[in-house]
Amino acid sequence: MFDTIIIGAGYAGLVLAERLTSQRNQKVLVIEERQHIGGNAYDHFDEHGVLIHKYGPHIFHTRSKEIWDYLSQFTEWHYYEHRVLAKVDGNEVPIPFNLNTIAEVFSQDLAERLQRKLVDLLGYNVKVPILKLREQNDEDLKFLADYVYEKVFLQYTLKQWGIGPEELDPTVTGRVPVYISRDDRYFQDPYQGLPKYGYTEMFKKMVDHPNIHLMLNTKYQDVMTISKDGHTLFGQPFEGQIIYTGKIDELFDFKYGELPYRSLRFEYDTYDVEYKQTVGQLNSPNSYDFTRTTEFKHLTGQQHPKTTLAREYPQAYVRGENTPYYPIIAKENQQQYKRYKQLADELTDVHLVGRLAEYKYYDMDAVIAAALKTYKKLIEN
Ligand code: FAD
Ligand code: UDP
Repeated sequence: MFDTIIIGAGYAGLVLAERLTSQRNQKVLVIEERQHIGGNAYDHFDEHGVLIHKYGPHIFHTRSKEIWDYLSQFTEWHYYEHRVLAKVDGNEVPIPFNLNTIAEVFSQDLAERLQRKLVDLLGYNVKVPILKLREQNDEDLKFLADYVYEKVFLQYTLKQWGIGPEELDPTVTGRVPVYISRDDRYFQDPYQGLPKYGYTEMFKKMVDHPNIHLMLNTKYQDVMTISKDGHTLFGQPFEGQIIYTGKIDELFDFKYGELPYRSLRFEYDTYDVEYKQTVGQLNSPNSYDFTRTTEFKHLTGQQHPKTTLAREYPQAYVRGENTPYYPIIAKENQQQYKRYKQLADELTDVHLVGRLAEYKYYDMDAVIAAALKTYKKLIEN
């Protein structure tokens, strides 16, 4: 009855459902354990009527025109460029740490010397990961690197991951490099924005096809089996393709142990004022137990007399108790993932895509790219 079963209705699953039905006229079953589509990018109106992101703030940004155009089939855009401030020594200063930030935290003489050194030794409009900046030999740059490391990265990272910057893969802290520039934006991608009517409305358009059958509130294990010897759906053999976007360790019953993830707890507050913060995101590297506070209206562009903010409290992931938000990208975990990947490669007609299935720190645009790549592979075979 179905050509393809898709497990998980996040970006990975929905992009594939959309492509396989609209372009190949396939019949697709999407199985999702939550009561809604959209995965972690799901948004909804809270009890005050403010549009919020249930699983943490999501800002879409990409360098890829192809991906921007792909999503633009399902949404118009609210053009938004993310700006972030962090509380450093009592001041709210721009992040990524850049030439403007230097001017705000140091005396004029020192700031000018550091700015000149950075530009002379490393160049203008250059992004330098903090761990790289710490390797510089110049005394001034060493001082600057230590300052930024201590005041911006160390405590934030310890809170967010439960381990320090050096224990993580350098690409993690490298996501927010020191930027030798006067550009205060968090992302420099040429395409940035949020779906004008919200992510969930966009996802609804993506799956608005008679050949897509959505089965919400259902763990795939309750209706189907996946194994090397064959797959079943509702107790009958299933011989079509399977797209799996859940956790890779779960697919193999945690045979090699549980892959570690980081989870979050959100606290929401609504205020009777139009805006509470000057920017969408305020980071608190050195104070409190939360990492950042997001004011959604800055992101969504919604006009409303009230405003809702979310604080993010990182915590360990415990299966069955909270949500596996972030794979922890570190050497040992990558090795454990590779063992699972080998098992996955032995499964015929099962394709693993997405943050949980590939154990990758994918942004939304990257997960769409991965799904489109899988789609191409599927139609070429
Ligand atoms: P998911 O969205 O996790 O979807 C997987 C789906 O599979 C889920 O709905 C899950 O319920 C379902 N599922 C899992 N197991 C089963 C099962 N056994 N049975 C049935 N269903 C199952 N990216 C950006 O580009 N910009 C941002 O600003 C941004 N902010 C983020 C903030 C936070 C706090 C987090 C956690 C992520 C953020 N991201 C951001 C990343 C973004 O959320 C992901 O790239 C994207 O949602 C991944 O999509 P996915 O389909 O791989 O996974
Ligand atoms: N980071 C930090 N201080 C900041 C911002 C980021 O230490 O003020 C580090 C931290 O380790 C974080 C990583 O950089 O997890 C990536 O930050 P990003 O904002 O990309 O995280 P995400 O939005 O994915 O949670």
